[in-house]
Amino acid sequence: MASTNNAASNQLPESFGAVIPGWFSEISPLWPGEAHSLKVEKILFQGKSDFQNVVVFESSTYGKVLVLDGVIQLTERDECAYQEMITHLPLSSIPRPQRVLVIGGGDGGVLREVSRYASVEKIDICEIDRMVVDVAKQFFPKVAVGFDDPRVTLHIGDGVAFLKAVPEGTYDAVIVDSSDPIGPARDLFEKPFFELIAKALRPGGVVCTQAESIWLHMNIIQGIVANCRQVFKGSVNYAWTTVPTYPSGVIGFMLCSTGGGPAVDFKNPVNPIDAESESKGALKFYNAELHRAAFCLPSFAREVIDCKVN
Ligand code: SAM
Repeated sequence: MASTNNAASNQLPESFGAVIPGWFSEISPLWPGEAHSLKVEKILFQGKSDFQNVVVFESSTYGKVLVLDGVIQLTERDECAYQEMITHLPLSSIPRPQRVLVIGGGDGGVLREVSRYASVEKIDICEIDRMVVDVAKQFFPKVAVGFDDPRVTLHIGDGVAFLKAVPEGTYDAVIVDSSDPIGPARDLFEKPFFELIAKALRPGGVVCTQAESIWLHMNIIQGIVANCRQVFKGSVNYAWTTVPTYPSGVIGFMLCSTGGGPAVDFKNPVNPIDAESESKGALKFYNAELHRAAFCLPSFAREVIDCKVN
């Protein structure tokens, strides 16, 4: 169990009370000039790991909230949107996923969604910060339930180092559920990391990564798309969805497949979530229509993302 660490000695990050007393405001250089705020009922945990500040608070309207280095990672109310989309967009696009790797994802939500697939035999997760896992198990049991699946193996470490040790062609799917490209996740948005993923995937294998906001990060997205086009010889796609408590209220996903194997058409799911998954609780957000719609982009974003200049 995470050592509840509310000692006054641990000054809360500046984002608490900075804009409105009694409210959390998400202030970051990644979205200058704006700050989404949530009213705080109670601080439940605060700690500092070797990698980041970790805070959990009870909000007035979104349930419990997990914050890393002042950035919202999940809330009980809208986590379903992100966890379901980042998992089912790739896994429903290949016929029988069997071996899946999650990078990051220490809250366990992606694991919960991957475990819905009866065809999956092995789920590895590499999360750099054990404090996130412990805090998720303590304060977000309905999210961290993913760790209970017997197919899951938890590796505590850096995703880059983990992938360097993975034999070629090991996985059918890799899901990169990382925080933003500042702090420990910086390297998870760079070309060498994508090259390691491509090596770890089988021919026709798929990857889905957290890919920021089209309203805030077109420059970052442009770089990610260019790198993915050079690395992944199957298909390269960008999808997006709405998550109210993420900056600008949206989050994007890069969906790529490796060459040399069966073609992957991400825009048409071939492997709908099996009925068994009802035992894991009904899906709250994802469905096949939303899957298809996720790849429809506004013109300003399509211009940048679809342009073939590498
Ligand atoms: N849904 C969130 C988002 O979109 O920002 C991400 C949630 S999840 C909590 C992000 C996780 O990535 C964190 O637990 C963090 O510790 C982990 N992480 C960051 N850098 C990492 C790295 N280099 N290797 C493995 N895990 C990493």
